[in-house]
Amino acid sequence: MPFTYFIADLHLSADRPDITDCLMRFLEEDAINADALYVLGDLFEVWIGDDDVNPFNTAVAEAFKQVSRHCPIYFIHGNRDFAIRHNWLNKAGMTLLSEQEVVDLYGTPTLLTHGDELCTKDVAYQKFRKKSRGWWWPRLMLALPLWYRRRVARNGRAQSKANQQSLKPEIMDVTPSEVVDALEKWGVQRMIHGHTHRPKIHSLQANGKSATRIVLGDWYDQGSVLKVTPSEAMLQHHNFM
Ligand code: MN
Repeated sequence: MPFTYFIADLHLSADRPDITDCLMRFLEEDAINADALYVLGDLFEVWIGDDDVNPFNTAVAEAFKQVSRHCPIYFIHGNRDFAIRHNWLNKAGMTLLSEQEVVDLYGTPTLLTHGDELCTKDVAYQKFRKKSRGWWWPRLMLALPLWYRRRVARNGRAQSKANQQSLKPEIMDVTPSEVVDALEKWGVQRMIHGHTHRPKIHSLQANGKSATRIVLGDWYDQGSVLKVTPSEAMLQHHNFM
């Protein structure tokens, strides 16, 4: 049976080798046999520029590159790694997709996105998102010296952790009407996204018909994978060693 894999929210970082090990095993043993692998954002905990070349992100790129010789790999930016550019993606053998992209999955048109744009109740974040995805802000940031970007990233991470703790949980989830709007804008009945770290297959109504929203899990405590075949969609776990 043919199959396609989806992953998101790995939040890879050099100080979590358990996550990276689990990813390496998944790539070598499972992804290599898939028709395609989609990485729907937040592959890395933080990305300060493709010029930040280090042994950690080079090893990750090489592992994906190996798999890309057998199985095409597609990437959509997340809110942590929206600064990834073609330099690194080429090293990883990945093709960049738009932030919302419809793909045909064994005959079912499916909308793919990281999903952060659906969380409209987080007003402060949406303001930052607009700025950070605009034309001048990323250019300005990427033009700063590497040492300075490292420092900004460290400070930003501490601040983001503090913000998340003070937000109500429902603010971190998608706004239901945004999901329906997105499905109707693209005229599709299935959506796959990450970002909220709430893995589940939801049923809803869109375009006057039943629709499905599949949410990918994160990789904090285990590897979380979605396997889609022509007949079903399954959320699966891979245990850390
Ligand atoms: Mn995210």
